[in-house]
Amino acid sequence: MPQTSIKLTIVGAGFVGSAIAYSLVMKGDASDLVLVDVDHARAEGEAMDISHGAPFAKVASIHAGDYPDTAGSDLVVITGGANQRPGESRLDLMARNAAIVRDAARQAAEHSPDAILLVVTNPVDVMSFVAQRATGLPASHVIGSGTVLDSSRFRYLLAQELGGLDPRCIQGHILGEHGDSEFPAWSLVSVAGMGLDEAARVLDLTFDPDRRDRVARRTRDAAHEIITRKQATYYGIGMITRRIIEAIVRDERAIMPVSVRLSGQYGIDDVYLSLPVILGEHGVEQVLAPGLAAEEVALLQHSADVLRAGQDSVRHTVE
Ligand code: NAD
Repeated sequence: MPQTSIKLTIVGAGFVGSAIAYSLVMKGDASDLVLVDVDHARAEGEAMDISHGAPFAKVASIHAGDYPDTAGSDLVVITGGANQRPGESRLDLMARNAAIVRDAARQAAEHSPDAILLVVTNPVDVMSFVAQRATGLPASHVIGSGTVLDSSRFRYLLAQELGGLDPRCIQGHILGEHGDSEFPAWSLVSVAGMGLDEAARVLDLTFDPDRRDRVARRTRDAAHEIITRKQATYYGIGMITRRIIEAIVRDERAIMPVSVRLSGQYGIDDVYLSLPVILGEHGVEQVLAPGLAAEEVALLQHSADVLRAGQDSVRHTVE
């Protein structure tokens, strides 16, 4: 990577896995795409359905398979698992999904030892920890989709609050857990290079603490709001997962808040959570630890405590 022939595997061809596959096909980021699912018929059906658009897309081949068919993958996305039930927290899903992710990661790594593993299954931070421990792959090669989706929601909601701006003008990160303890790094928000207060001033708006709280709450609760209405979320995660894959296979060195194993940043060690990282062909090229406000550091450390407890509760499944 970057190369013209990219082989990708998606483990779990449910709503999320097939939305990622569809997104990839629409952008032509893979030349060979393998879908693996314990429900082989479902993977076959999705592969058939998507491949019937082949005359209008760039993907060379999309098919259902088993792990031997995934050999030589450049990147493996793990979405297999159980779905979040209405009212169920992501951490409640943990035990059900840890065994699935452990087995999927081990089998995928056995056939593609050089692949980057990208975990999407929830709770994604703890599942990324499981995948790394289960395979022993370098931490730079095992990442989670983390808060890239949350940050995308955050930028969209901020853009709305700023009078309907194009969200692409707004930079901003949700950090920490992909879940209830996540928080916006307000100190890092930039609107076309301006800090948020300055942007509000020139736009003749007030961005008071109530408004900030509303954006943070709506970002954090977005998944619950969608699940209450349609039982699952998949288009947004499909789009942002494709974008993470693109950054890696094209060796872009793009900066995104994926879930990574920390090694001392902000005093946090051996915990998977989201910070901005540079993503390239070797996975995580660098974890960035920008200067944060003191209360943001405290929130990050709280998130790390929550996730360390989550990791501890599944550690026995991978040791
Ligand atoms: P789904 O039920 O539609 O699909 C899950 C698929 O996994 C099913 O097809 C199932 O057969 C398969 N599966 C189960 N065990 C497997 C195994 N051992 N090997 C291979 N495949 C297996 O669920 P979904 O809506 O696609 O959600 C999948 C996961 O993605 C869930 O954990 C969900 O919470 C998560 N998710 C994460 C994010 C995020 O931002 N990280 C966003 C949305 C959903």
